[in-house]
Amino acid sequence: MPELPEVETLCRQLQREISGKKIIKTRIFDKKLSPLGNLRGKTVMNVRRCGKIVNIELDGGYYLLIHLRMTGRLLDQTEPAVPRYARWQMSLEGKEVFLVDPRRFATVRVARKCPENTGAEIFGDFDLQELVQRHGCRKIKIKTLLMDQNAICGIGNIYACEILHRCGIHPEKEASRLTNAQWQEMIRQAKSVLKKAIARRGTSISDWRDLYGRKGDNQHELTVYGKAGSPCPFCGSPVRRIKQSGRGTYFCPTCQK
Ligand SMILES: [Zn+2]
Repeated sequence: MPELPEVETLCRQLQREISGKKIIKTRIFDKKLSPLGNLRGKTVMNVRRCGKIVNIELDGGYYLLIHLRMTGRLLDQTEPAVPRYARWQMSLEGKEVFLVDPRRFATVRVARKCPENTGAEIFGDFDLQELVQRHGCRKIKIKTLLMDQNAICGIGNIYACEILHRCGIHPEKEASRLTNAQWQEMIRQAKSVLKKAIARRGTSISDWRDLYGRKGDNQHELTVYGKAGSPCPFCGSPVRRIKQSGRGTYFCPTCQK
């Protein structure tokens, strides 16, 4: 599932490829997607990430909002040949962008307003005190909180495991039991892990590919995710896997308390 670094990667690549270009037409191949209205002739002004949404700003105050959900990805193709699992196509001057999505959960819509994040955006004007005020007394497990899009935007299972390993916090620890220093360290590590993952164009463990259909490189940086039984790179203890809210959680029982 694309998380913050993968969506950010796509937005940066799209910004380079389609910003300033005019839309010639859009085509829907999957009836599950609602019609978008006529976008012909509209110019792409800007592409940026809002949480996990790809936000393509058009002239005239329109926003084309793409949420990739489980297996959605965007593919830049110079030829108009339709790739497998294509659900939607946007033709721009000299450029074809396809939404490819085998499981068909991704959505595309047009809005007159930029979507508002429900949770805090970790980059930009992130306010740690506000996060601690809102969630610091809760009995919720810290990994569940990290992945709660109403608390913080864009962190899913892979990066939550990686962030908690690097800051030495047990994934089942309750938010209310974190010290101030632990909150600070967790957010510092979150920024560092996500920033690195953006620089490496995301984590390709299963189906993630960037705008050009290439794998990301961040899977080589993972220290615990998907590594049950392998030695922790910090202390050598075997990495453990447990289930938390139905998801596999990986951690080091020695480093994480
Ligand atoms: Zn360890």
